[in-house]
Amino acid sequence: MAEIAIIGAGMAGLSALHVLAAAGHQITLFDKSRGSGGRMATKKVGDASWDMGAQFMRAHSPEFAGQLQTWQQRGWIARWQAEPHEWRQGQLRPTGDNIERFVGMPRMTGLSRQLLSSAHPFIDSTRIISAANQADGWHLRSDDERDFGPFAGLIINTPPQQAAPLLASSPGLQQQCEQVDMLPCWTLLLTLPQRLNLPDMVFVKEGPLGFIARNNSKPGRDAGEAWVIQAGHDWSRQHADSPREQVQQQLLEAFTDLSGADLRVAANLWLHRWLYAIPAKALTLGALTDLQHNLAVCGDWCHSPSLEGAWLSGRRAATSLLTTLN
Ligand SMILES: Cc1cc2nc3c(=O)[nH]c(=O)nc-3n(C[C@H](O)[C@H](O)[C@H](O)COP(=O)(O)OP(=O)(O)OC[C@H]3O[C@@H](n4cnc5c(N)ncnc54)[C@H](O)[C@@H]3O)c2cc1C
Repeated sequence: MAEIAIIGAGMAGLSALHVLAAAGHQITLFDKSRGSGGRMATKKVGDASWDMGAQFMRAHSPEFAGQLQTWQQRGWIARWQAEPHEWRQGQLRPTGDNIERFVGMPRMTGLSRQLLSSAHPFIDSTRIISAANQADGWHLRSDDERDFGPFAGLIINTPPQQAAPLLASSPGLQQQCEQVDMLPCWTLLLTLPQRLNLPDMVFVKEGPLGFIARNNSKPGRDAGEAWVIQAGHDWSRQHADSPREQVQQQLLEAFTDLSGADLRVAANLWLHRWLYAIPAKALTLGALTDLQHNLAVCGDWCHSPSLEGAWLSGRRAATSLLTTLN
């Protein structure tokens, strides 16, 4: 049994945790946030709550399809039955796809809570600022000057910009991180006193918006009318540094144009800027490894831009590490 550290409790880190734990290793998981899940986040404002990052999961690979089935049987996820629509040239139409979309229960972070394992410590609210490979293994330091280790192996599951500073001992991997461009996404959350006359899920193909969803149409959510309004990635990049009030106003105007709603009655407004929402182009390597140092790096940006990509990447990182640890 080896002691292994995982930095980042997103989908990739959690999937790596399961592979390593199943092989009998002892894991310590770190995250800078208060909870797990990373971009599979939930936001609460007053009594209202929304899935603020990833909206749903779907499978392209048989491995992830099998995993979704298992989670569904355990009640950790459920089908989101909304009929997808698209908004193009001022027209709203069903996309006609019959893709199975799943959501965490009773919110996206619900799945990440289930994937944490009580047998392995989760050290949250702890930002790791350096990782040093010494003769006895990996030593980690947090921004509040705590030291952790030694660990026989290390997995880093953070966006590439946050992984690069932790890769001082592997300059080759550091360079690969620096090549990955992550796209931003402005996201506006709000509640309304009445139901809007709009489909539950709309992929928007023009203007500032990219995707909108009625959060309360997902299974297990509160009944109140709650909307997630995501800007498109190109628009988000163009407005990445615009004043928040201006961004909010433009997103509200675009949503009004599309829905015809009177948004003066909107409440619980919350605007969030995801600086590293998804990779513009993922590396497709699965995971980055430096097995001489028992080190692997994972995340959607190493595989493909989705929760499925993150899950597959975490598995790849962990199975690679197992070849040198066993
Ligand atoms: C707005 C938005 C909408 C999306 N919609 C969808 C969707 O509908 N379907 C879909 O499949 N995907 C969607 N995605 C993409 C999906 O969320 C990601 O692909 C996936 O969550 C990435 O998981 P990850 O484990 O690679 O990284 P992350 O979830 O980013 O996890 C990385 C973790 O590392 C932690 N961390 C970072 N630096 C440090 C540090 N120094 N020390 C300690 N911890 C650290 C972070 O706090 C975070 O928890 C969306 C993403 C966004 C932002």
